[in-house]
Amino acid sequence: MSGAMSSGSATALAGEQAARVPFTRLDNADPALLAELLGVVERVSQDAAFTLGAEVEGFEREFASWCEAGHAVGVSSGTAALELALRGLGIGPGDEVIVPTNSFIATAEAVSAAGATPLLVDVDEETALLTAEIVEQAITPRTRCVIPVHLYGRTVEMGPLLDLCRERGVLVVEDACQAHGARYRGRPAGSLGDAGCFSFYPTKNLGAWGDGGAVVTNDRDLAAELRLLRSHGEGARHHHEMPARTDRLDALQAAILRVKLGRLDEANERRRAAGAALREALTGGTVTPPAAVSGTGDHVYHLFVVRSPERNALREHLEAAGVSNAIHYPTPIHLQPAYADLGLGVGSLPVAERLAVESCSLPIFPVISAAEIERIAAAIASFD
Ligand SMILES: *Cc1c(COP(=O)(O)O)cnc(C)c1O
Repeated sequence: MSGAMSSGSATALAGEQAARVPFTRLDNADPALLAELLGVVERVSQDAAFTLGAEVEGFEREFASWCEAGHAVGVSSGTAALELALRGLGIGPGDEVIVPTNSFIATAEAVSAAGATPLLVDVDEETALLTAEIVEQAITPRTRCVIPVHLYGRTVEMGPLLDLCRERGVLVVEDACQAHGARYRGRPAGSLGDAGCFSFYPTKNLGAWGDGGAVVTNDRDLAAELRLLRSHGEGARHHHEMPARTDRLDALQAAILRVKLGRLDEANERRRAAGAALREALTGGTVTPPAAVSGTGDHVYHLFVVRSPERNALREHLEAAGVSNAIHYPTPIHLQPAYADLGLGVGSLPVAERLAVESCSLPIFPVISAAEIERIAAAIASFD
């Protein structure tokens, strides 16, 4: 193989391209896992039990326990998890929900879908996350809820935020869609607020083979309400308590997620180790690694986001060196056409706007190799 690769410039080039560091790798990169998951698909197909039932109930039990929460309700996506959590908590038209503008757009869309209004706010310069201080300045008499987003896999400083919200009678729905297994003061993300929302989009730390999501909560009544909201308001068979929708987690996805949940702690450990190695490699250069994790918080490195004043040049350099990269997110939510009617123009939320211009996400995933980390480090070093 290596002989063939060095036998001519065209094949050498093909070899180099094959060695490109991908942005992420999914289950097809692990033949043993792939075989096990195909076995699961076979089992569910043989049983022909595709909606709700034993697989979904089993996953909900196991995921609730893994999140150290009383209940988990499987739904069709992370966006549905957020929307149903808000609706289940009684949030709707006339209500304001505080959302950090530095997030995936779904966080705001869920608020809109629930009929409420997103109140978009800026984020902390160092962590790129919401803080209690930012929320305190933004709260109005119409604010019913705050959605702290544990973006990139880093936990929001939840203690002061929960204190503030409790004092003001404001609900807290955590967006933990990028933070499965991250812990704040020892407690899993998603288990700290009134409800915690997860996405199982394929690239997330816990990914399905399609779309899926879950809400976790310690509130039994909310969990019961969510089970109605995700499936036609159907309590007893053919008895519909409210007009609702089809927003269930598929049994096939639940069965796949059960297998992958069993390996998630190990996968997160590998992400943490890769994050530490990348951070080490960046020390002393002009490209700024993610801020160090505070004593109370945690980071499960869904994404490894660096900053550079020369971000676009950095991206071109990485591209040329065969290191895949991305931006999360190139446009803050308040500058998206979808939210133009909020009237927040350029310059209104300056920290997030700066992050959008200076951030670059490097490859990180559980099966990243030491050689790949070295290639990323070398590419960054030759940019400095
Ligand atoms: C992925 C994601 C969502 C939405 O999840 P979907 O499953 O894609 O609907 C919401 N918030 C954040 C921060 C996300 O990363």
